[in-house]
Amino acid sequence: MSALFDLTGRVAFVTGGGSGIGRRMAEALAAAGAAVVVAGRRTVPLAETVSGVNASGGRAAAVTADLGDLPSLDAVAALAAETFGAPDILVNAAGINLRQPAEEVTLESWEQTVAVQLSAPFFLARALVPAMRDRGWGRIVNIASLQSVRAMPNSMPYGAAKGGICQLTRAMAEAWSRHGITANAIAPGFFPTELTAPVFADAARAAEMAARTAIGRNGRLEDLDGPTVFLASRASDYVTGQTLFVDGGFTAK
Ligand code: NAP
Repeated sequence: MSALFDLTGRVAFVTGGGSGIGRRMAEALAAAGAAVVVAGRRTVPLAETVSGVNASGGRAAAVTADLGDLPSLDAVAALAAETFGAPDILVNAAGINLRQPAEEVTLESWEQTVAVQLSAPFFLARALVPAMRDRGWGRIVNIASLQSVRAMPNSMPYGAAKGGICQLTRAMAEAWSRHGITANAIAPGFFPTELTAPVFADAARAAEMAARTAIGRNGRLEDLDGPTVFLASRASDYVTGQTLFVDGGFTAK
């Protein structure tokens, strides 16, 4: 059974891998045997992920890139293949939430949010799919959100992009699954990261979010390990186009 989850010999490209959920997913993939390449704008957090993975006996490299710069993404995809070869697994975990009331959203902030969370996953996947197709195997794991299906205050561009990523996931599955490339999304519940630090800083709000789950607590980053390796491995060969909510039952209530 363990062979189904074994990622030895695979290469994973994880955007947003310098922090939070992306870092944890990169670490999980590395622990399952994959060589991982992490991407983000800040070099120092990426280097921390790389040294952490290497110290645990894994193999990792970093690509510093602004994924909101959409015309650069073919070049970013080429860089992702430089150290360990063409990625078999793409995890689109980069994200931002500027938490602006609708009245304060600007054209620039709208476009930045949608570019990083919706456009970059498409253009990166499209650039990496040909090599996956040549091998007849690939995995795309997008990151959705509670806000893919629930509206929350001051998050209109974020929620729109997170709604879109679920449909993009289905469209990717429709286009590429026949070539052995599955596309799925993980929708995390409420997890403590840089992105959610302002919300976790408000203990009452954090407790309210925990109370809205079926399990009765907010997420811990390790809760993502199993779902990540499942969707990145042969264990999920016949699963495609799906969004897996790893949310403690928040959306079940
Ligand atoms: P995080 O620690 O802030 O991670 C976001 C990552 O995205 C950072 O590593 C950041 O790196 C990278 N990023 C942002 N803009 C970028 C850009 N223009 N180019 C390249 N990289 C960029 O927060 P997180 O919570 O782990 O978020 C990871 C994903 O999970 C996001 O898609 C988020 O929407 C999603 N999510 C989080 C939660 C939660 O409760 N935390 C819930 C649902 C979904 P740089 O700043 O160095 O670029």
